[in-house]
Formats: sequence, structure tokens, C-alpha cells
Amino acid sequence: MKFPFKGTCRSASSRLNPLLIGLACTLFSSVVCAEKLAIQAGWLFDSERGRLLEKRTVHVVDDRIESVERGFRQRSDEKVINLRNYALLPGLMDMHTHLAYEYGPKTYVETFTWNPADYTLRAVNTGKRTLMAGFTTVRDLGDSGNVTVSLRNAINRGDIVGPRIFTAGKSIATTGGHADPTNGHRHSLMGSPGPAEGVINGVASAREAVRQRYKDGADLIKITATGGVLSVAKSGQNPQFMDDELEAIVATARDYGFTIAVHAHGKEGMERAIRAGVDSIEHGTYMDDETMELMEDHDTWYVPTLMAGDWVSQKSAVEGFFPEVVQGKAATIGPRLMDTFGRAYRKGVRIAFGTDSGVSRHGDNAREFALMVEAGMNPADALRSATWNAAALLNAQDRLGSISAGKLADMVAVAGNPLQDIDTLQNVEFVMKDGKIYKQPE
Ligand SMILES: [Zn+2]
Repeated sequence: MKFPFKGTCRSASSRLNPLLIGLACTLFSSVVCAEKLAIQAGWLFDSERGRLLEKRTVHVVDDRIESVERGFRQRSDEKVINLRNYALLPGLMDMHTHLAYEYGPKTYVETFTWNPADYTLRAVNTGKRTLMAGFTTVRDLGDSGNVTVSLRNAINRGDIVGPRIFTAGKSIATTGGHADPTNGHRHSLMGSPGPAEGVINGVASAREAVRQRYKDGADLIKITATGGVLSVAKSGQNPQFMDDELEAIVATARDYGFTIAVHAHGKEGMERAIRAGVDSIEHGTYMDDETMELMEDHDTWYVPTLMAGDWVSQKSAVEGFFPEVVQGKAATIGPRLMDTFGRAYRKGVRIAFGTDSGVSRHGDNAREFALMVEAGMNPADALRSATWNAAALLNAQDRLGSISAGKLADMVAVAGNPLQDIDTLQNVEFVMKDGKIYKQPE
């Protein structure tokens, strides 16, 4: 059985006599009551240094990693998880997903026919798929109706199964910009979306939009600084925010402890955002040496989303798949991403892993590793981008991103050496989040 009963047991233990718990554990073999686990791993990925260590035991108490020891160990009060033929890694982290969306032939029609509940139920499914693929933490960079805020809360309550979510809620755009929710709609249906719906014009509404995200319960801010591929609009790369709007967003976001993720393809809009002090550039298609140097000066992260580029390039060749205005952008912008990423990596830009899943299928996230390696990245660096670096981007290195004492027990395992064969990441056989096992080898 692959689902965790440990959580039930643990929450019950605060109310019931420990003896009764012990009895339940003895009587029902499906109840994994060992609060203390010894995970014996053949190899362990040291994400801080980017190397594989041989034969390690990770001691887990409740939701935390208590310690890591050399060799295969077991204490008398511990249950052993035998992963001696597996490589154990920190839980994988995808810094760019859209759990409420999954692109398909009906996507543009869904805008008119789907209720928020439809998106939510989809997100329950995509969230579970994401976790089972080994991604224990994600950033969600854009939904509607605060679907992923509710999803995050339901997962945190333990009502449903899914990754740890840091969500931006609705992305912030300008009128007609990428993520204006009414782009391409008939005029009588367009209305005038404002800051509450994530559309701003000018400094005051920029501030209002950030504060609305705070009120909505978002964890960070996402803005669309340039045109994008999939929006029903002409340009995929024009700048769409003015300097004063960007400065207002950054200054307001800092008041609320938000980081800012920025969708950007074109150079000008991207550089304006970097100068304003945002935290990450997503996609970054047309960045050049100058942009990369600017990113180094401002400690800006790059989240490449190679899968999105790959996916839109492929689909742009399928006649009638995209609306005409999207097809041209997909064919031009999509294929450039691999080259941009290779140059950024060689130049030493700080890279965090992100897929833009929701464009491609949720649960396929680990294919991004293969593309990163194909574009010239060292496999160890690719793995670090989804663990150590991602935790740094989230300001969560105190609790996530490596298998070390005191951190949350988020771990995954693959059969085989991921540094020799990066494709093993596409077949994660063990998933633990917060000390609960969601998947393990038969
Ligand atoms: Zn996206």
C-alpha cells in the first residue's frame, strides 16, 4: 500500500494513550507507526556539494531529519526503510508550475465554460501526480480564483495529497499583457479587469495588486514583464511594465515579505525588471551577455523552463493546434530556449529548476533534467538546481534543499546512479514528504 497511514497514527497519538497506539500498530500491519525511521540508502546525493556519498543512513523522527550517519545503521526503536540499492536525493523542487492548468485543445474554451471548482478539482489531480513524480515542493506561478491557495491549504491540513506549495495566486499583468485574463475575448465579455484580477496600470494599482495577493493568502508575487507565447496577443516579447510600476511592485512586495518571480522573454522588459530588483527571471529567452551580467550584479535567479520551450516548438508544427496568433510566437520563441540556457549556464548565472508544467503535462517534470543535461549542464548541477538552489530561491534553506540534520524529511529515491543516467529521475520509486512515505519500491 502506497499511502501514508503514519499521519493518522501521529495525529491520534496526541490524544490517545500511547499503549493503545502501540496495540493498534501491532494489530494492523498497514499502519506504519514507527515515528522513528532509519532510511538505509546505497547512495545519498549531497546537494550542497553536488556529489554522491556511498552507504548512508538517514534517521527520521516525525517530520524531521534527525541525523545522517555513514554505513547502514538501525537503532532498536527504529523501523528500517531499505533503499540499499537506491540513490536517495532531497525532495525535488519545481520553481515554475501551474497546477490549475494543463494545456490541451480545449484550453481557450475552458475560460468560458469552467467554474473555479473545475479548476480546483483538476489541481487536486495534478498536485498528486506532481508529488508522486518526486516533486515534494513547487512554486505555483499563476492560477485564477486563488485555486492554488486553497489547494495549498488543503494539502497542509492533510485533506488531500500533494506537494508543498508556494503560490503566487493570480499573476499580475498590465492591460492586454500576458496574463490579462480577458485577452482575446469578445469585446462585450472583456470588461476591465483591475488589480484584484491581476491587471494594473500605474503605481497605485501596482501597489493595490500586491496587497490584494497578500489578502488572498499568496506566498510570493508573479508578474508578466513581457509578452508571452500562449496568450492571445500579438507580441511574445514586448516590454509590458514601466519602470515606476516595477519599482512599486518590488517595494510593496518587500513590505509583505514576498519574493517576485518574473515571466520574461524580451531583453528590454527583462532588464527593467532585473534593475528593479526582482528575484527570478522565468524563461528569459532573449537574454544576452549584457542581461546575464546584469543578473549577476543583482543576484537574480534564472528559471529556464526548457520543457515549455520544447513543448510549444513541437506543438507549433501541428497544424491548427494553436490559434494563429499563438502559433507564430510558439515557432519563433520555443526553439531558442535551449541555446539561451546553455549560454547562461556557461556564464555562471544562478539557475533554479522550473518546468512551467501546466504547459506540458504535470508529472512529467523530471524530463527537464534531461533537457538541461542535453543543453550542456553537468548532471550534478542539474540536480542541485532542483534542490539546493531551489531552496535558496525560496529562502527556505533552513528547512529544505538537502538531506541534513534538522531539515524537513523530504526525500526521493531512484534505482541507479542519477549522475551517470539523468533519466532515472523520470522514474522516482520512493517519495517521502514531511516524514510521510507516499511511494516506495514494491
Ligand atoms: Zn508559466
